[in-house]
Amino acid sequence: MAIAPAIVLDSEEFRIPRRNIDAGEVQEELARFQGAVDRAKEEIRELRQRVARDVGEQLGAIFDVQDALLTDPRVDQEIRELIEREHYAPEYAVSTILRGYAKKFLNLPNRYMSERVVDVYDVEKRLLRNLIGAKRESLGTLTEPMIVIAHDLTPSQTASLDRSKILAFATDIGGRTSHTTIVARAMGIPAVVGLKTITADLSGGDMVVVDGNRGLVIINPDEAAMARFRDAEQRFRRMEKELGDLKDLPAVTLDGHEVQLWGNIEFPHDVEACLARGASGVGLYRTEFLYLDRETDPTEEEHFQAYAETIAALGGRPVTIRTCDLGADKFTHLSGEYDERNPFLGCRSIRFSLQHIGLFKTQLRAILRASALGPTRVMFPLVTNLKELRQAKMILADVQEDLEEEGVAFDADIKVGIMVEVPSAAIQARSFAKECDFFSIGTNDLIQYTLAVDRSNERVAGLYTAGHPAVLRLIRTVVDAALEAGIEVAVCGEMGGEPNYVPVLVGLGVQFFSVSPATLLEVKKVIRSITKQEAREICDKVFQFDSDREVDAYLGEISRRLLPEMYA
Ligand code: PEP
Ligand code: MG
Repeated sequence: MAIAPAIVLDSEEFRIPRRNIDAGEVQEELARFQGAVDRAKEEIRELRQRVARDVGEQLGAIFDVQDALLTDPRVDQEIRELIEREHYAPEYAVSTILRGYAKKFLNLPNRYMSERVVDVYDVEKRLLRNLIGAKRESLGTLTEPMIVIAHDLTPSQTASLDRSKILAFATDIGGRTSHTTIVARAMGIPAVVGLKTITADLSGGDMVVVDGNRGLVIINPDEAAMARFRDAEQRFRRMEKELGDLKDLPAVTLDGHEVQLWGNIEFPHDVEACLARGASGVGLYRTEFLYLDRETDPTEEEHFQAYAETIAALGGRPVTIRTCDLGADKFTHLSGEYDERNPFLGCRSIRFSLQHIGLFKTQLRAILRASALGPTRVMFPLVTNLKELRQAKMILADVQEDLEEEGVAFDADIKVGIMVEVPSAAIQARSFAKECDFFSIGTNDLIQYTLAVDRSNERVAGLYTAGHPAVLRLIRTVVDAALEAGIEVAVCGEMGGEPNYVPVLVGLGVQFFSVSPATLLEVKKVIRSITKQEAREICDKVFQFDSDREVDAYLGEISRRLLPEMYA
């Protein structure tokens, strides 16, 4: 949870702080505003002429809405009044008034008209660009703690947020298990995503409360809302403190069945948060973050340094290094070369690695070299057929041979696993179990691909749930296949970190949970409050339901019963 003034980023990352001007500056600032309007009109006139000349007179008319907004006396008057009467800086006045109009457009029932909201944003951007010009500020120059409000943030933008200045963020788009959200959770940044219109609902400088636990954003809270916020914050801190007491206790059920609790990491420095919460290893290292936000591929040495740092920080605890899961919402400098219409169904993950063998081998060499330093396992993401697993293993064997010839040390018995995160792999789990050492169930993608719901699309977020009976059945198939073959099975998607689903997973026989460090102790608390037998009974009951609503309602009830203090 956090409370602070908002900064609103548009797609060009302008910062629009609430700034006041002196009474003596009003005339000068009005003239500056007029200058920006005149330049914006001129730009639009030129654009219209160019489009009319190049593609036809009629298409030139697409600028009519923007032109109308810029020449509308009411809009002009409203902005001037904020400058004259409230002494707001023109940037803030423009942003406030135009965002108000954007919201009205968004609410229009006529689809054609509501889509014109893009024109309102475009006019806002144009005016701001002319007003701010070279003085553009970026997130890097923040001096005060703020809450970022943005249409969207990419995973790498999120990873580079300065935690000491950015207290929280809220976005129009996104989903609970999108990589942006996962990064926020790992960094401990409160976030609410998928709010659809948050960038239009407020202006820079507005005071906002972000409650990431309950998915709430409150704009300019009144006294009563503030009191509720403080109260909820205190309860949250108390609960955190109580959970902290569990740190060094084992994750064991009331009748003595122990489960391993590992952490998920994106960067080597995340190990610290895992250990601070008592993780007994890292079950998912998302190495693709090494690639993000750079112009060139990381070298073998850079890979190696990151893995060596992780292994050293873990001090003998195991790490499962997942080979790069690039593509979909995680881009590299290469992404621009391939414009995919359906990137989540495209050249992603292991497919990308198998099409870029040089890059894949570089990573595998580094992983193998690091495996000489401490217990290391390697895992391939998004495997959909046996051929991919065989090819990946063959390339791994090639690299092992090279290292052997060069006399470089590595763990010759390194365990090789796959992420089970597409229905085809889950259904065929028995075959896969014969050819690998462990499974790690990636529920984030498994849900996405089973239910055909984009995990980062807020418009279909209501359909995305681990409680869908089809998802649960697939998970059961995978766990059964692993137990039958005698290989380890972990869950490393966000589902494993959601207290409601923990009893079901324990009941199914999952022995390893790899979760965001933020949720690790809650998971431990659930495990320590049930018996394995109870978990099995919960499981049996859950498999009798045929809708996710029944499943989720029942599991919610169980959680409230097991952990009443957390739901108080
Ligand atoms: C998953 O899909 O559940 C998973 C753990 O991988 P990622 O979230 O990185 O796609
Ligand atoms: Mg995945």
